[in-house]
Amino acid sequence: MQTASAAAELIQTEAHLGAHNYKPIDVVIGKGEGVHVWDVDGNRYLDCLSAYSAVNQGHCHPKILETMVEQAKRLTLTSRAFRNDQLAPFYEEIAALTGSHKVLPMNSGAEAVESAIKAVRKWGYEVKGVPENQAEIIVCSNNFHGRTLGVVGFSTDPVARGGFGPFAPGFRVAAFGDIEAFERAVTENTVAFLVEPIQGEAGVIIPPEGYFRRVREICDDKNITLILDEIQTGLGRTGKLLAEEHEEIEADVTLVGKALSGGFYPVSAVLSNSDVLGVLRPGQHGSTFGGNPLACAVARTALKVLVEEGMIENSEAQGAYFKAGLEDIRANAVREVRGRGLMIAVELDPSAGGARRYCEALKEQGILCKDTHEHSIRIAPPLIIDRMQVDWALERFDRVLTGLDG
Ligand SMILES: *Cc1c(COP(=O)(O)O)cnc(C)c1O
Repeated sequence: MQTASAAAELIQTEAHLGAHNYKPIDVVIGKGEGVHVWDVDGNRYLDCLSAYSAVNQGHCHPKILETMVEQAKRLTLTSRAFRNDQLAPFYEEIAALTGSHKVLPMNSGAEAVESAIKAVRKWGYEVKGVPENQAEIIVCSNNFHGRTLGVVGFSTDPVARGGFGPFAPGFRVAAFGDIEAFERAVTENTVAFLVEPIQGEAGVIIPPEGYFRRVREICDDKNITLILDEIQTGLGRTGKLLAEEHEEIEADVTLVGKALSGGFYPVSAVLSNSDVLGVLRPGQHGSTFGGNPLACAVARTALKVLVEEGMIENSEAQGAYFKAGLEDIRANAVREVRGRGLMIAVELDPSAGGARRYCEALKEQGILCKDTHEHSIRIAPPLIIDRMQVDWALERFDRVLTGLDG
C-alpha cells in the first residue's frame, strides 16, 4: 500500500507532463478484480463505468488473462503479410455468434467506424452506382463514434469538433429518434445510415419504440446500408448480445469493440451481413495490428466467457433490478432514470448543480461513476455484478442522491 501523498504525486506528474485532454476524477487506481478496483491507498470501489463498457466481463477476468499470457508467450504479431492460426477461428466464432458473413478486424472503435465508412462509400460507387465522390452518409445529432479526424468531422458536439477542421464532406445530420428527420435526409446518393442503437455518450438516450424497425424498412426500400455502432451497446451491455435485438432488426454492418477484448487489449471489428466488406480488395485497406494473433485469441476468450458465464442474461436481470431500485429513490434532484440492461443513466434536474459533484460524492462512498453531458450520472458496472452488490450500490446511491438535495 502506498501513502496518500503517492496518489497526489502521481496526479501532479500527470498534470505536469500529460496533455490535458481528460479531466479525470481524482482516484488513482492500482488494481482491479471483478466488479471492484482499488486505489493506490488501498480503498476499494465498485466500478460503475467499466472503462466505458470495455470491461463488461469484469476486471482481469482469469480466463481472458490466461489466454492473454499463454498467447503472448507463443506469438503476438505476424502482420497480415502472413497468416496466423488465431484469425480463422476468431472469424468463425464471432460470425457464428453474431450471424455475420464477413469480418474485418481492427483495433480501436474509431478505426472500426472509419473502416466501415471507407467500405460503404466504395460499396456505394461500385454496387449502388452512386456517382464518383458523391456518396452521402447520414448520421445523428449528438452522435458519438470516436475521436479521429474523420469521425469528429460529423460530430455535432462543438467541444469534440471545434478547432479541428477542415473536415471531410459527405455527411448529413438527422435528429436521433426522429424518423421524419431521417427520411428528409435521404437522397439518391445516400449510401449508409450510421447510428448508435442507444446513444451512450449523449446520456443513454433510447429512441422511441419502432424507430429502428421503420429505419430498417426505409433502408431496405432505398438500398441504404444500415450501420449500427454497437461498440458501447454491444456484447451484453443492454441485456442482449446486440442492442439491435431489442427492436428485432438486423443491421447490414455492425461495429463492435471495447468489450470484444474484455478490456485487455484494443480489439474491434466490422461485421457485415451484406456484400459491403466484399468491395475491399488486397491493398485497399489494412492495419499492422488488426487481426493479430494476440488480439484474436483474447477476443475469442472474451466472447466465450460472455456467453458461457451467462453475463448477457445477468445484465438483463441485474439491470432491471438496478433501474427499479434507482427509480424508488425519492430525491428531488432526480428527473428521470433511463436504461436498458446495465446501461443506465440518472438524469438530474439542471438546478442540482451538475452530475460531477454527485460522482465526487459517490466516490467518497466507494462507487466510481462518470458524469455525462453535465446532468446525467451514467451507471454501467461490469456485467458480472450480483444482486447483493447492486443492493450495496443502491444504498449508497440513495444516500448521495437524497443527501445532496438542497
Ligand atoms: C467508445 C466508442 C467509440 C470509439 O471507440 P475507441 O476505441 O475509443 O476508438 C465509437 N463508438 C461508440 C458508440 C463508442 O462508445
